Amino acid sequence: MTDAWGVLGAYVADALGPRFRTREALLAWQDRRVRRHLRWLRATSSFYGDLYANLDDAEWRHFPTIDKTAMMRDFDRLNTAGVTLKDALRVAERAERERDFRPALGEITVGLSSGTSGARGVFLVSRAERVRWAGVILRRLLPGPLWRRQRVAFFLRANSNLYDSVASRRLRFEFFDLAAPLETHFPRLHALHPTVIVAPPSVLRLLAETGPNVSPTRVVSVAEVLEPQDRAVVAARFGSVFEVYQATEGFLGVSCRLGTLHLNEDLVAFDFENVGEERVSPIVTDFSRRTQPIVRYRLNDVLVPKRDGCACGSPLLAIERIEGRADDVLELGGRRVFPDFVRKALMSVPSVREYRARQVGPNDLEVELLPNEPLAREGAEAALRALAPTVRVTFVPYAFRPGARKLRRVERAWRP
Ligand SMILES: [Zn+2]
Repeated sequence: MTDAWGVLGAYVADALGPRFRTREALLAWQDRRVRRHLRWLRATSSFYGDLYANLDDAEWRHFPTIDKTAMMRDFDRLNTAGVTLKDALRVAERAERERDFRPALGEITVGLSSGTSGARGVFLVSRAERVRWAGVILRRLLPGPLWRRQRVAFFLRANSNLYDSVASRRLRFEFFDLAAPLETHFPRLHALHPTVIVAPPSVLRLLAETGPNVSPTRVVSVAEVLEPQDRAVVAARFGSVFEVYQATEGFLGVSCRLGTLHLNEDLVAFDFENVGEERVSPIVTDFSRRTQPIVRYRLNDVLVPKRDGCACGSPLLAIERIEGRADDVLELGGRRVFPDFVRKALMSVPSVREYRARQVGPNDLEVELLPNEPLAREGAEAALRALAPTVRVTFVPYAFRPGARKLRRVERAWRP
């Protein structure tokens, strides 16, 4: 079977997949799927077999969790393809140097997660899993059915030529490499006349403000935190913003027709750790991924669940927003400060258009500001002091350019 048929098969299977009227029905179905997966997992992954020895599968939501560090430490025993971390890293790093976008060991693709602090994650995906993933993503991301005419522009850090295999006369994919200066892509983007643009929000905003004259029916935000001020600019130009929550760890959520982000609980089971101030950090269990099982895996993300759910009626959990990485929660003068509080403080200053804030010492914040003018600085400093009274702020001009580097507006670059 060619990849194209596989993608189409996964697309159709997803379109015909289970629908749940109630949250109870969804969770009961999830429970059966996870238990079935656990029986297989115990027998196949010696790491999970040992970790879950003597535990009752009915209690899986209370099983020990793992994180990226644990996953990398026991990589060789955790994955079920018999691949060693050493081999996987060698392949992935060489591919990165040579900008070869599909590093593989035989039929298994090796992905690196863009870990900025500490260890990077290595993720193995079989060909069948990759093909299935593509089919599901296309089903949930494209406006309208697969056979409708679409021209999709992907602005990504790494190409996935997988989509080329599904391309046809009606469906066309073009890849725009974020490693190249964005302006160099404008003529080709204009000529493509895309119906769908998929890009990080910093790139969508640049396209909205200075990009070529295109009128896609859908713009899709991926790979970075979508902040309200960027969403507003992009929505004002393109109508609305469709959000995809995806990581190397899984395809985790998409917007509904009302624009609310819902978690893909029909693909992945979520549990949550409370991190304070109505925020949670997810623990994910993917019940179909087998090459590198992701079970009771703590994601380093901070989510704000939507308090009143979503009016669309979906039983899938609604998310108010994704706030970025848990290790970017600041600790200023002994106070925990969530990134969104920093955003609110700085965006409350009328003249501030752009910002980045990095914690660089126990009580020190370096703030990139646009405009970096006395009035803006004064307002910003006062707003930040309201959050952390003793904070020392240093201002520098705003220097971020959308492109190869991922935009993290609030970053914790200092640890004791
Ligand atoms: Zn909804």
